[in-house]
Amino acid sequence: MAYTKVWKDNEKLNKEEKAKLQKDGLDILEDIPRYAEEGFESIPKDQWSLFKWAGLYLQKPKEDGYFMMRVNIPSGVLKYEQALALAAIAKDYGRDVIDITTRQAVQFHWLEIENIPDIFKRLKAVGLSSVGACGDILRTIVGNPLAGIDPNELMDTREIVDDVYWYFQGNRDYSNLPRKYKISISSNINNAQNAEINCLSFVPAVKNIDGKDVVGFHIYVGGGLSAKPYLAEELDVFVRPEQVKDTTEAVTTIFRDFGYRDKRHRARLKFLMADWGPDAFKEKLLEYIELPSKGENRFEAWNAGYFYGVHPQKQEGLNYIGLNIPVGRLYSDELIELAGISKTYGNGEIRTCNSQNVVIPNIKDNDVDSFLRETLLDRLNIEPKNFIGYSVSCTGIEYCNLALVETKERMKQIANYLDENLSIDVPVRIHMVGCPNACGQRQIADIGLQGIKMKNKDKQLVEAFEIYVGGRLSEAAQFNKKLKGKIEAHHLNDVLLELLKHFKSTKIDGEDFYDF
Ligand code: SF4
Repeated sequence: MAYTKVWKDNEKLNKEEKAKLQKDGLDILEDIPRYAEEGFESIPKDQWSLFKWAGLYLQKPKEDGYFMMRVNIPSGVLKYEQALALAAIAKDYGRDVIDITTRQAVQFHWLEIENIPDIFKRLKAVGLSSVGACGDILRTIVGNPLAGIDPNELMDTREIVDDVYWYFQGNRDYSNLPRKYKISISSNINNAQNAEINCLSFVPAVKNIDGKDVVGFHIYVGGGLSAKPYLAEELDVFVRPEQVKDTTEAVTTIFRDFGYRDKRHRARLKFLMADWGPDAFKEKLLEYIELPSKGENRFEAWNAGYFYGVHPQKQEGLNYIGLNIPVGRLYSDELIELAGISKTYGNGEIRTCNSQNVVIPNIKDNDVDSFLRETLLDRLNIEPKNFIGYSVSCTGIEYCNLALVETKERMKQIANYLDENLSIDVPVRIHMVGCPNACGQRQIADIGLQGIKMKNKDKQLVEAFEIYVGGRLSEAAQFNKKLKGKIEAHHLNDVLLELLKHFKSTKIDGEDFYDF
């Protein structure tokens, strides 16, 4: 595809852009073996940020030399050997911790530079990669965790996701985008992909072409969260399955060449879309690829990426079972055990969900009861209580340099407290983040909790939270809105309990938090 790279002539590049012109982010992959031999002290500080392109961030405090690594799991499909490899890496090098992210990826912590080449080797051996999981590049592709087994999908999207993912993996034509770039491809009619919060999303659609109904996709462009969130705009185009890769390349080229590179906080695709609007964006897109106008959208009620319990697959006699991973944190032995029972009763696959949970597919009808008797399910519940089952948390101050407060353990403790003190007939999705960024997708939660620092009445700087309510996607999509005031962290349990008691006492049966 022809491209122009007009941005190279732009004199108003921000400092990160100037640095990227000196050295491509992917070049860090060539340096890592040398740094591994010579040790952390040999890495110049001005090279630290380039590690993102390899999926690596220095965790807090940076000077201690420990890395967080994010590994791409496109569409959340994790094979048996891959799960075992991840568990072994966490056991050998990452103090046993494996976090599932809100984009179906996984994260390790506590990695040291000396071990990174071996970790790369182990990932490659099972077809996994951390390259492009962070940095100004196309990130892991979010998809339908039930792809291929889903009675609620129009088509199996696994092959399409793989094609697009491997085309962009390490592709130096697209390794210097203005900022991070997040896409999703799914044909699940319940918006398991959270389409509207991605830079580019392919969503299920059907169009009558020459008297025949063709299954394909509509596209949403320019969504994103963080401090200034935008819902993606739907373009008036229909994309056939065989055009997904070329359409992705076209939108990515537009972002690369027309996205803003002067102010870093305005560099996401959402700002370009906000300025151009969907009609102008479509016009530009059609300069790169020929696409007909829209067909019929096939979105129904949003499931927020939750699949708890036992459900029939589209293949007769087979079932998928959704399990809760409390706030997305797993330990090596649990992952090994999970892979083991998946292999015993299914085909060894584990599917990760953007709700930070997992699905085990391909369980025969006759094996469901035995599966449900496995002791691992005492902790990884298939019918979790309504707070711990619907709580999401970002990494927080434990490892993240940008965090203002602790999140993971706190979210878990709050959810357990609420479950012990209040029973309610509908789930309430609570998302906690440690700063204005959106790794825990605070903006789409029923109740969003965003960490801040504030002075208490004794003028001491303490951890506190802002509370946001009413976020949702799909029909009537909107971001949650901030309530007045700030709550000191140690008051959160009581404040949330009171808020939810009020909800329970005034709602009608079956009414969910958003309708309330
Ligand atoms: Fe760190 Fe903020 Fe992301 Fe949480 S939301 S992991 S605190 S950057």
